[in-house]
Amino acid sequence: MSIKTNLDHVRSQIHKALVLSKRENDLIKIIAVTKTHGIEVIKEAIEYGFDIIGESKVQEAEVKIPLFKDKYREFHFIGHLQSNKIKKLLELNPSLIQSIDSFSLAEKLNKQLIELNRIQNILIEVNTSNEDSKFGIAPEKLLMEINKFNELSNVRVQGLMTIGTLTENKVIIRSCFKYLRDLSENIKRMHLSNIEMKYLSMGMSDDFIIALEEGSNMIRLGSILFGSRNYEKEI
Ligand SMILES: *Cc1c(COP(=O)(O)O)cnc(C)c1O
Repeated sequence: MSIKTNLDHVRSQIHKALVLSKRENDLIKIIAVTKTHGIEVIKEAIEYGFDIIGESKVQEAEVKIPLFKDKYREFHFIGHLQSNKIKKLLELNPSLIQSIDSFSLAEKLNKQLIELNRIQNILIEVNTSNEDSKFGIAPEKLLMEINKFNELSNVRVQGLMTIGTLTENKVIIRSCFKYLRDLSENIKRMHLSNIEMKYLSMGMSDDFIIALEEGSNMIRLGSILFGSRNYEKEI
């Protein structure tokens, strides 16, 4: 099976969106979200230049990531991280943990990093959709806690991540992305020494064009590259 057609299609859609938003000189990081997908298609994507891969479960990443060692450029963790899985995740050397969704999780991560004498880049996941079921820190809470994040010795905050509201309503989706962007501008203006608002990770297969229009510079694409996910299938 060849997925090159999907990859070409996505590349041209991204290019079009950037031209329309007058952002064609901006660098956009594309995360190929490989969860549930098999080794062969992932290899193909990496060889075709989609070499930043994202997984959302530590158990699954543990099996797959070592198989691609020296092939991918970056591995990003994008799913909810349970604190008892931090150690295993760190063994996989993620370039970026995108989904730190509470201060207490960041604190636990920091503790383990101190023991390992390592620094870890992270994004803070923000709940921009006001849905209780979603992971992510509430924006008001983040503004109250951002100084505490700044004091963590071994964690480097590089930006914010969000999942837009799951809806057909583009106005609502756009408002999530606008919100994240404003929040990141507000935090930038605080000039905190340990906090860089370098990345805005927003946009998935169904809404990445809106996200690019709203200033995203990191998009996370799964189904549009690899087809729909089958959670039952074995890897
Ligand atoms: C699965 C997942 C994606 C990719 O979703 P698609 O809609 O298939 O592109 C992006 N971000 C996160 C956090 C995910 O869990």
